[in-house]
Amino acid sequence: NRFMAEKVLVVDDARDIREFLIDYILKPKGFQTIVAVDGEDGLRLALAHQPDLVITDNQMPKMSGLEILAELDRRGLQIPTILTTAYGSEETAVEAFRLGARDYVIKPFEAQEMERSIERALRESRLAKERDQLMNQLVRTNGQLERRVQELNTLYSIGKSVSSSLELETVLHRVVDAAVFVTGAEEGALMLLDEEQGELFVRASKNLDSETQTMRLRVRDSLAGQVLKTQQALFMGDEDKWRKIKTAYLVKSLIYVPLISQKKAIGVLGVSNRIVSQSFLPRHTRVLSTLADYAAMAIYNANLYSGSEIQRKKLGAILSQTDNPVLVLDDRRHFVVVNRAAQVAFNLPMEDELIGQPVEETLRHMEALEFASQRVGRNGHFNQRAELVTTDGRIFNASMTIIENVGRSIVMHDVTQFKELDKLKSEFVSVVSHDLRSPLTAILGYVQLMERAGPMNEMQQDFARRVQTSVANITDLITNLLDLGRLEAGLDLSLVDCAVDEILREIESELSLSVKEKQLIWDMVVDDNLPKVWADHNRLQQAFMNMIVNAVKYTPSGGQVSVTAKAHDGQIIICISDTGVGIAPADQPYIFDKFFRSESVAQSHEGTGLGLSIVKSVIDRHDGRIWVNSTLGRGSSFTIVLPVMRSGDNEDARKPAASRPPTG
Ligand code: ADP
Repeated sequence: NRFMAEKVLVVDDARDIREFLIDYILKPKGFQTIVAVDGEDGLRLALAHQPDLVITDNQMPKMSGLEILAELDRRGLQIPTILTTAYGSEETAVEAFRLGARDYVIKPFEAQEMERSIERALRESRLAKERDQLMNQLVRTNGQLERRVQELNTLYSIGKSVSSSLELETVLHRVVDAAVFVTGAEEGALMLLDEEQGELFVRASKNLDSETQTMRLRVRDSLAGQVLKTQQALFMGDEDKWRKIKTAYLVKSLIYVPLISQKKAIGVLGVSNRIVSQSFLPRHTRVLSTLADYAAMAIYNANLYSGSEIQRKKLGAILSQTDNPVLVLDDRRHFVVVNRAAQVAFNLPMEDELIGQPVEETLRHMEALEFASQRVGRNGHFNQRAELVTTDGRIFNASMTIIENVGRSIVMHDVTQFKELDKLKSEFVSVVSHDLRSPLTAILGYVQLMERAGPMNEMQQDFARRVQTSVANITDLITNLLDLGRLEAGLDLSLVDCAVDEILREIESELSLSVKEKQLIWDMVVDDNLPKVWADHNRLQQAFMNMIVNAVKYTPSGGQVSVTAKAHDGQIIICISDTGVGIAPADQPYIFDKFFRSESVAQSHEGTGLGLSIVKSVIDRHDGRIWVNSTLGRGSSFTIVLPVMRSGDNEDARKPAASRPPTG
């Protein structure tokens, strides 16, 4: 049912493949074929005949399929081409598509696979050809043609982007006009299915009398219904007898084509002659089918649009109920959605006046504007969070998300109360730390003085030592607890560029004495020129110290402690291993919890169970990761991964709206 036989050039050095393609696939489908037995021949014939499709092998003597593609491409010839190869390599496929190949088929292939590929490769050029034919047809016809060509062109373009019911109306009427005009019919109609009633009704029409315009045809027993059910076009030439469409409605000739959207028939486009005895041409069916496709596409798009409109309204209703201010901006930073809470927070005008306006012209809050309209860096980097204080004194945490194909959304949480609580908590922490430390200092002081007050017997000395150890433990505990409290409250990080190697070397020299006393083998390998990390120096030192002290503490005399640090893929990897007591698998998930201590070490080793919790908090706060591998009785190995400092890091630190945790 194609207008003219399409020409296919088959280029392959294998005879059986050529025969298979030509005799079993192409000829039965009515294609005209040309054959070339090697690449050079293939190129020559392609240039001479300009076929509709080339199916070429890749590996061939003299010239490969890719080379043919490249040569056609160089000459600006766009002949749809399917490349076949004996083996699949990704590079070949990529290269083939780069050179404009339509498809890429791996041998051995099945007939069905090749048929599908051919259909796909030809679909676009067929459509274009049909459109051209339609145009030519129009050009050939009479005086109205200029305007009609224009109309069809508009039709072609708006069919793709129908976004309102008004536009849909226009498209559908133009489709019917064009159908009538091209076929020279007396009248035409586009009917849509009313699913509930099982009837077709006229949605757009040309030259129908007013009574017929309101007709409804039952799907069950009408010709149009039959077209809808079978999804097959119906063509009735002029056979000098009348056909009944409906009671008292007779036609001499007609064409009906189905409107198919998403594989479902949704209506029928038809033209008919009632008076004149003039037959339609078979090719009119194809023209009508193309028009029906446009109409279906337009309806589909319009439905999508109104669907998304409804969704947008629903979303709007939901958003207006939330207390969190929400702003959505499109790619040009014009307002798409603004909820009530956001209008109140920023004193914005009503929604109707806002939508579509550039944010720069309406948002008067400088920090908010700067945050909302910031540019996204080429590497996709942008400030995701900011703290914004509104004129009424409320404090908001604003976070921004980039939404593909939409733009960006900014959601804000009122954190005024949390901020106040936070302040109270910090005050509490510092008061308690001070208040607890003072009596401890006093206890320690008096114990030391006791020794000076006069000779003590051995038992008294022993007691005094115990008091001292206990006080030291409590002091440790309090310090650790306060540290942890501050870390978890998100306070206290002052980020600078830190050299991990220097920190590790400081720890090495600080611990050298205890390593020696325990007769441990110490092994530290730190790569030269480690990149810097953007971190709080003291916290990082504390974390590494806690880990290495653990390794030393939990490794018996004669064992080994190893520390390595190296850079890899934008990260620094620090590994602290020992040949010590190890951690039972059952305990491993808990070692980073506050106050957790393995039962196996609780008696034999001093400790608070807070060291690793601090380590974990510190590493988390620096966007790092930490994990452990350990075998009971054999040793443990802790790994820390930290991101290397990025070029934008110190700039972020200076801005108030930083994505990193605030400093100070
Ligand atoms: P602490 O050492 O004060 O008990 P940590 O939080 O530092 O507290 O460690 C928690 C627990 O994890 C320890 O009690 C111990 O059971 C286990 N652990 C930590 N590091 C090691 C290590 N290097 N070898 C064996 N066990 C360890």
